[in-house]
Amino acid sequence: MDFVNGGDRSDDAAGRVAPAAMDAESFRQAGHALVDSIADFLESLPDRPVTRDESPEALRGLIGDETSLPEEGTEATVLLERASRLLYDHSLFNGHPRFFGYVTSSPAPIGMLGDLLAAAVNANVGAWRISPMATEIEVQTVRWIAELVGYPRDCGGLLVSGGNMANIVGVLAARAAALGPQVRQTGINGVGETRPRLYASAETHTWIQKAADIAGVGTDAIRWIPVDERLRMDVDALREAIAADRDAGELPLMVAGTAGSVSTGAVDPLSDIADLCDELGIWLHVDGAYGGFAAALPDADEQLRALSRADSVALDPHKWLYTPLEAGCVLARDPQSLRNAFAYHPPYYHFGQEAVNFFDSGPQNSRGFRALKVWLGLQQAGRRGCIGMIADDIRLARRLFALAEAHDELEAFTRDLSIATFRYVPPELHARIGDEAGEAYLDRLNQELLERLQRSGEVFVSNAIINGRYVLRACVVNFHTEASDIEAVPEIVVRHGRELHATLHRGT
Ligand SMILES: *Cc1c(COP(=O)(O)O)cnc(C)c1O
Repeated sequence: MDFVNGGDRSDDAAGRVAPAAMDAESFRQAGHALVDSIADFLESLPDRPVTRDESPEALRGLIGDETSLPEEGTEATVLLERASRLLYDHSLFNGHPRFFGYVTSSPAPIGMLGDLLAAAVNANVGAWRISPMATEIEVQTVRWIAELVGYPRDCGGLLVSGGNMANIVGVLAARAAALGPQVRQTGINGVGETRPRLYASAETHTWIQKAADIAGVGTDAIRWIPVDERLRMDVDALREAIAADRDAGELPLMVAGTAGSVSTGAVDPLSDIADLCDELGIWLHVDGAYGGFAAALPDADEQLRALSRADSVALDPHKWLYTPLEAGCVLARDPQSLRNAFAYHPPYYHFGQEAVNFFDSGPQNSRGFRALKVWLGLQQAGRRGCIGMIADDIRLARRLFALAEAHDELEAFTRDLSIATFRYVPPELHARIGDEAGEAYLDRLNQELLERLQRSGEVFVSNAIINGRYVLRACVVNFHTEASDIEAVPEIVVRHGRELHATLHRGT
């Protein structure tokens, strides 16, 4: 049998029945049913647990993990129905009004619909020629994001999978700028004896290690700069570290400032860091994956707004623009710096005009149309709406901090941007705060409390380590959250805290 020519259908594919195909009517029916079921699911979210306490084994059993890929196909409507049920009944919902974990936002419904439309057109936004309108929409999306955060609107940039990737692209642009584009040919070993160095605060997210690894400089190249009592980079220490490295003949490749740290929302003194980078001629990259969009607020701190002075900035529309995963964005002051780091083609012209080919500005070749859901979300809310939702999240985190401060059995720690940190302290242990055995017990109590809270499905928080102390951490990047959801948190935490303390005590 000749498989290359389609087996026994030897002449042509006339009368072909492609299992992947759906005629307009079956697509309409399956699609309408799915949209109806999603609308019901979204409406039911507040009444569902944030997540269920189920084992990996139980979930594997539900999808029959030992089953092989079925030989024969199944009807689309049957599959969609089954997949929705599995996901609605066995997921963690970051769209739940009481989800405050990590930095993960609730998804904007227009983004869900945008992804459907993007998949339908299936634009490959690698090259202008194969995605003309989608490319122009992505160009406009990048420009609008830049405008929103106060970055120059004639910058370069593109959408990537998330904050990690946006930061990595920034490092690769900095690398080509500091070592010259020939580093792409010779590798890091070909650029001589000077060791490149990256500078970042000790509070920097783990993207920096991945970026140092991928850029070929290795994690040993990272200089971890200490932080002040509010967990912001110490700029004097930064200056000293750079001077010492230059004296030793090493090459400062870039400084990475953080606009909203992942554990507490701390914003590095970006204006002071930008002054130093200007003075010394070093590339400044800002990780604004979490807090970058807060620079749009009219009362944003001057140190946060100074992200506009960076050579490159990472932002995460799938955080504070509420875009459904995935959508990250990197901006670069000089569009050419991205081409210097990634292009293998000359600039592309169409009807005599330079047209954008995104595959020359980033690591991907084929690229999905991530920009559409961001572009839609930005316009649905408008500038004023985007700012309003961020400001509301910050207000709610402040409220939670104040409630924790006022509660006898909670100890409030930090409140920056929309992150509040606190821990449960049983009344009889107040006097033992600060003593070694007392602190060790509180660390253990709060660690187990977190586990218990996450399993409860009543509320979802995560944790942070602040000056060695294990604390609970609520991050509000959630346009579904109301004041009543925030006001419920202390009671839930304290109720579980008391129960746990009672059992731990009995056990010791
Ligand atoms: C979330 C986050 C990242 C990583 O972004 P992803 O979108 O998860 O890849 C990096 N830095 C900070 C400050 C973040 O909040």
